[in-house]
This record gives sequence, C-alpha cells and structure tokens, in this order.
Amino acid sequence: MRLAIVAALLLFGILSSMIATRVIVSTQFTRSMNNRLMTLTNLGQMLANNMAAASYSADPAGPDAQVINTQISLIADIYDGRFVVVDKRCRIVEDSYNLELGRTIIADRVIRGLRGESTSQINEKSQLAEIVIPVNEPQTENVSAGSSSIGAVLIMSFNVKDVYDLSASLRMISRLLLVLFSVLMLVAAVLIALRMTRPFRQLKKTVNRVSEGQYDFETPKRTYTELKDLQGSITTMLERLRQQEESRQQFVSDVSHELKTPITSIKVLSDSLLSQEDAPAEMYREFLGDISKEIDRENKIIQDLLALVKADKQAEELKISEVSINELVEQNLRRVRPIAEQRSIDLVYESFRDVRAQVDEVKLSLAITNLVENAIKYNHDNGWVHVSLNADHQFFFLKVEDNGVGIPEEDQDRIFDRFYRVDKARSRDTGGTGLGLSITRNVILMHGGNLKVYSRPGEGSTFTMRIPLYQTGNGGVNG
Ligand code: ADP
Repeated sequence: MRLAIVAALLLFGILSSMIATRVIVSTQFTRSMNNRLMTLTNLGQMLANNMAAASYSADPAGPDAQVINTQISLIADIYDGRFVVVDKRCRIVEDSYNLELGRTIIADRVIRGLRGESTSQINEKSQLAEIVIPVNEPQTENVSAGSSSIGAVLIMSFNVKDVYDLSASLRMISRLLLVLFSVLMLVAAVLIALRMTRPFRQLKKTVNRVSEGQYDFETPKRTYTELKDLQGSITTMLERLRQQEESRQQFVSDVSHELKTPITSIKVLSDSLLSQEDAPAEMYREFLGDISKEIDRENKIIQDLLALVKADKQAEELKISEVSINELVEQNLRRVRPIAEQRSIDLVYESFRDVRAQVDEVKLSLAITNLVENAIKYNHDNGWVHVSLNADHQFFFLKVEDNGVGIPEEDQDRIFDRFYRVDKARSRDTGGTGLGLSITRNVILMHGGNLKVYSRPGEGSTFTMRIPLYQTGNGGVNG
C-alpha cells in the first residue's frame, strides 16, 4: 500500500510538473518569437512606407532611393539582418549583403509580396526569420488619385538564434528544477505514505498482539473514520474473546477442582484404612461405603459435564418432534416422585390445558427433571412442590414452585453459572454438582425460550420456563 501511495504521488507530481514546465517554456518561446516578429514587421513597414514616399521603385538608383538604401543597410547592421529589395520584375535592386544584386528571384513569397501580401516565416533549421513586406507606391498615371500599386517587395532576413537560445536555456533550467523537484517529491511522498499508513500499521501491531494472546486493544488517537468503526468492532470482538477465554479458563479450573474433590476424599479414606494394620471389618465397610459414595459423586459430575458439553456442541442439532407437553411433564414427575415421597414432600401437578409443542423431547426432559429435582432437593421435609403448565397461542409456560429454602437475591443471577452453588455443603449432601441449572438454561435457550427465577430466602422459589410452541429455526418441524 505504501509503495502504491508513493508511486501515485510521484507519478501525479512529476507528470503535472512536466506538463506545466513544458507549457510555460513553449508559451514563453511563442511569445518572444511573436514579439520579435512584430517589432521587425513594424520596422519593415516603416521602411516600406519610406520607400513608397520616396517612389523607390520608380528610380532605385536615384538620390532618394540612395537615402533609403543607407537607412536599409544601417537598420540591417543594427538588427543583424539582411535586407533585400526586389522590384516588380523580381529583380534584386538592393541587397544589404551586396551578394545577389541584379539577380532575379522567383519565389512563392516574392510573388505573394508582389500581390500585396505581407508574410513572415521562421526557418527552424537555420534559425532565421524571414519577413516579406510589399511596398505600396502611389499611382501616377491613368489611375484615380489616392490609389496605389505594388512597386517593390522588401525581404528581411533576421537571425533569431537568441530567441531559440533563450528557450533552450529555459528548458535546461526547467529540467534541472524538475529533477530537484522529483527528489523532493520522492521524499515528501515517502513521508506522506508513512503518515497515511500509520493507523493501518498500528492496527496490524494490535492484531499481532492479539494473536500472541493479549486481548488489550489500544485505540490510536489519530485515525480514519472508517478505521475507527473497524477498531470499534475489533474492540467488541476482543472483549467477547477475552470473556470467552476467561470463562473457558474458569471452567477448566472449576472442572479440575470439582473432579479432584471426590478423588482426594477416596485417597484419604483408603490411606487411613491402609495405615491401620488390624482395622475392624465394620470400619472397612463404613469407609468403603464412603468411597462408593464419592465414586458415585465423581460419576455424577462426569455425567453432568458430558451433558453440558454435548448440549453446547449440539446447539444446532435439536431433534425436534411434536409431543404432548402434559405427558412429558407427567413422565418426568413419575420419575422423581419416589425422591419426594422419601422426604414427605407433596408433589402436585396442575395442567390448565392440553399443550402440544415442537421440542427436543430428551433435552427438555432433562431440563424439567432438573428443575423439579432442585425444588425437592432444596426443600424442607414435609414441604410442597407445585408444577403447573399453561400456554397461549405462541408459548407454553411451565412453572415449578416450592416452599423450600429459597435463594438469596445476590445469588439469583449466578445460580445459572457452571458449578455455582449457593450452599456448597447442602448441595454436596444432596449430590449437587452446580451444573444442573446451567444445563437447563442451555436447553431452554436452544429452544428459543427463557427461564426466570423468583425466590425469597426461607419462603421458597419459583422457576418459570417459557418455550415457543413451534420451532422455526434449527431444522424444526413446521405446522
Ligand atoms: P446443583 O447440582 O448444586 O443443584 P444447580 O445448577 O441445579 O446445581 O443449582 C445451582 C444452585 O442453585 C444450587 O446449588 C442451589 O444452591 C440453588 N438452587 C437451585 N434450585 C433451587 C431451589 N429450587 N431452591 C433453592 N435453591 C436452589
């Protein structure tokens, strides 16, 4: 890009200055040549007038003509020119160089002069200007007074080398100036190109830094409006990337921590058994029972993690079919009812209408079970859980209410985060991994729905999911 800018600036600068100097030099040449021709023509005209007044052609050897001849040779000397006078018969009657006196010239310009036409021409090769001026002499016989005829022709040849020389030296100076200007242009073009591409270079540096793993983005102070927009988009993208990277790192560290906890317990339990040589059989049974529980817990964490990763990976692949949501809820409630009964929790289901919707049956079952299981887990013995289903023409609503422990307000936003548990000890006792709500919310979002929580500590919680009846995206069935 820099090279293109330099080349464009140089080309434009040099071409335009070349054209400008050429125009100036040639205009100057034409003007000085025209001036010179005009001066000489005026001079010739003055001589021709004198010749006419002195009736030069009538008597070229007469005294009046001699005076004119002296004038002619004087002016010819001053202007470094040759003056020739040709009479009506094309004979040379006066030559300031005295070279061709008496000779006859039959040339186009002479004939034209004798016809009354003034001409001037420049011979580029010999650098001579030739001016032909007819001498109008008053008629004396048979013609009315005041009329005139051409009695002779004055031919003047002047050297105009000085005009050519001036033009040549001007051309030379302009060429030198052009070279100097080109060098200056080159320096200026490089500086301009460097300045113009600076914001791009800064952007490149920043992008390189990002590819090295740094997510900070320095916005250059002076930049182009278009680049500012691009930088804005990059900043947003980087912020998102940074957040993703942070959450990925957090997730990996949480997963390692969570997976390590049961293993540490198993290690402690087995080590303490091994360290006692004559440990009683009851102790073995008790410790092995604990080890088995820890293994179950590890298993549960791994299963939940797999479910979560799978849900993330298959976000685009919902297996949609039209099902009765009433039946789906009842099926799931049947599965968890024994757990509720163990703790004498009253599990009530209320359906306001028959609802059919296009959902991924397996994934939605997981979400419903998670919500109902939580309502039982985080409840008191003899509490109640109330599940209700309703719909309008667009969505169905599944509400899971309980009168359990509730969730403090400051935790309500975070319970959907992976591994987040309000009461770690309680969650652990009930076999919680902190992944259930995260999986549930993912499933609901994949269906284009949402999940809301309303809770008061000590009074209970209400989770409400809202899911569209028909899936239009994700390869869903229409109808
Ligand atoms: P867990 O496996 O620990 O149950 P979840 O992701 O399902 O993980 O829930 C996250 C946390 O939210 C739980 O540890 C619990 O503290 C809180 N929670 C979820 N549901 C309820 C509920 N119905 N009542 C009170 N607390 C709840």
